[in-house]
Amino acid sequence: MNDSIVIGAGAAGLSAGLTLARARRTTLIVDAGRQSNLAATGIGGLLGHDRRPPAEYYAAGRAELSAYPSIEIRHGEAVSAAREPDGTFSVALADGRRERARTLILAPGMDYRVPELPGLAARWGTSVFHCPFCHGWEARDRPMGVLASGAVGVHGALNLRAWTTTITLLTNGVALTDGQRDLLAGGGVAWDERPIAALDGPGSALATVTFGDGDALPVTALLVKAVLHQRSALAAGLGVTLIPPDEMLSVAAITVDPMCRTGVPGLFAAGDAATSVPPSMAAAVASGYLAGASAAVQIAAGY
Ligand SMILES: Cc1cc2nc3c(=O)[nH]c(=O)nc-3n(C[C@H](O)[C@H](O)[C@H](O)COP(=O)(O)OP(=O)(O)OC[C@H]3O[C@@H](n4cnc5c(N)ncnc54)[C@H](O)[C@@H]3O)c2cc1C
Repeated sequence: MNDSIVIGAGAAGLSAGLTLARARRTTLIVDAGRQSNLAATGIGGLLGHDRRPPAEYYAAGRAELSAYPSIEIRHGEAVSAAREPDGTFSVALADGRRERARTLILAPGMDYRVPELPGLAARWGTSVFHCPFCHGWEARDRPMGVLASGAVGVHGALNLRAWTTTITLLTNGVALTDGQRDLLAGGGVAWDERPIAALDGPGSALATVTFGDGDALPVTALLVKAVLHQRSALAAGLGVTLIPPDEMLSVAAITVDPMCRTGVPGLFAAGDAATSVPPSMAAAVASGYLAGASAAVQIAAGY
């Protein structure tokens, strides 16, 4: 019986694992290896690791954990999890193995869903991104677009003025209200409501946004609104509560208290999966630490 099982070895899961390791708790970290920012060239805004390639960051985290004897990081996928009548957890893995632990930490990240447009997926994480604080610096002072509509689009476009002066809100066929157009005009932001046909440019670079009518707009970086969904059914199956998504930040996050407790005894959640504020690596590291500490305290208390 493990003291803890951690689902996911992104920033949150590795941070939880490190905390448990240092508390000398036997911990199995199961990870499918699909951290959400792997497509990005560098991590923006993580103190001590600014602009570091994500894969290099995760490798460094794993290397740190390998110094502790009570931790196992296993490549694999958890397909189901249950809280047993005795209060422990059992986790079924895709390879058929079943693992047990006294506590369980969910850190599976989120599924970032963005509009399906020809040319978008190939540029995701480089010239197309969802977070200006992460990747806006690299795109500064160049023509930027915002792919969104409604109040979220207006807010996102006006916010981009910190990074560039040439901004176009692209609503992809959705009409703005007169009030929204006034706000944009007052802020010096252009808009275009025509449907978009494709994003074009060499490799992962963006050069133009092409509209359905064939016109093209020079844009070298595109901020898109992402909607974050739970990646797996593990959370719902364990009886946690999901926060209803709001319009500004569409995230169906697991409800946790400030110490990352879900309300289900012995079950904790960290990282994007339990973040109802804008997601970031810094927040994932911090919440992973808290989840690991909470689990360690619970194990030590013996309940
Ligand atoms: C394209 C992109 C670029 C970004 N750039 C930045 C940036 O520059 N700066 C910044 O601060 N933030 C950035 N972010 C946000 C940041 O990456 C996330 O906030 C952070 O990765 C969340 O960490 P996490 O550990 O919660 O999840 P993740 O990093 O997504 O890791 C979760 C891990 O759990 C695994 N997993 C999921 N389900 C299972 C399962 N059932 N069994 C086993 N393993 C499972 C996944 O495969 C994955 O390896 C970016 C996000 C995206 C999408």
